[in-house]
Amino acid sequence: MIRFDNVSKRYENGHEALKQVSFTLMPGEMCFLTGHSGAGKSTLLKLIMRMEKATQGLVMVHDRNLSQMADRHVPHLRRNIGVVFQNHQLLFDRSVFDNVALPLVIEGADPSDIARRVRAALDKVGLLNKEKLSPIMLSGGEQQRVGIARAVVTRPPIILADEPTGNLDPKLSAEVMHLFRQFNETGVTILIASHDLDLVYSMGNRVLTLKDGFMISDGNNAV
Ligand code: ADP
Ligand code: ADP
Repeated sequence: MIRFDNVSKRYENGHEALKQVSFTLMPGEMCFLTGHSGAGKSTLLKLIMRMEKATQGLVMVHDRNLSQMADRHVPHLRRNIGVVFQNHQLLFDRSVFDNVALPLVIEGADPSDIARRVRAALDKVGLLNKEKLSPIMLSGGEQQRVGIARAVVTRPPIILADEPTGNLDPKLSAEVMHLFRQFNETGVTILIASHDLDLVYSMGNRVLTLKDGFMISDGNNAV
């Protein structure tokens, strides 16, 4: 599903954020990406979304080589990847329903289809009764679940999350991780960047660890 083969990423200023990184994520896998701040986690996720291009090496997503993918195919790639951020990036001047509907509206989906799919996604994250509220009325954990509903509403085969529990207390963080697990159990491939090592190792999944741009371990034992 996702394959990095000897990937390096050097930014314009000369900083090398990823160095000879190789790994493969099989379809349906759930995996964590960890490492200290600045280790290269966000850069790795950006390469998968083609928000950045590798300087060297091969990035394959869905059997497509992203270095050779024409810009006009990038929107299609991104529609197949649901993304969850730490700070939700929700629109506070719109309802929960409208926030979750946004990717479908952009896609040009049929309004009745939108209503059905938004409610199904809100149901999956346990927020069906909050659809009319502004996200500003919700707790941090609920806001994060709105962000997750928005990421999954188009049913992407891949979900990427960048510090999805960054602002949450341990109990809510565990709940959010279990939501990801539920999506994973339906076959979605999931990669979650997090520096919360206790939480990451408590999940028992594969863990990729970056340090100064190098991938220093791949397994499920703490380094
Ligand atoms: P992490 O997500 O693990 O905190 P990042 O991938 O955000 O790490 O950053 C890795 C390194 O690359 C950091 O040293 C960061 O300062 C640097 N970096 C990130 N983005 C850019 C950029 N656009 N230009 C130059 N350096 C960058
Ligand atoms: P459908 O009737 O289209 O099969 P479902 O009721 O199965 O719809 O799911 C509707 C919505 O629930 C989807 O649009 C999506 O938001 C979410 N969803 C369901 N299954 C998954 C999945 N495996 N991965 C991500 N999102 C999903």
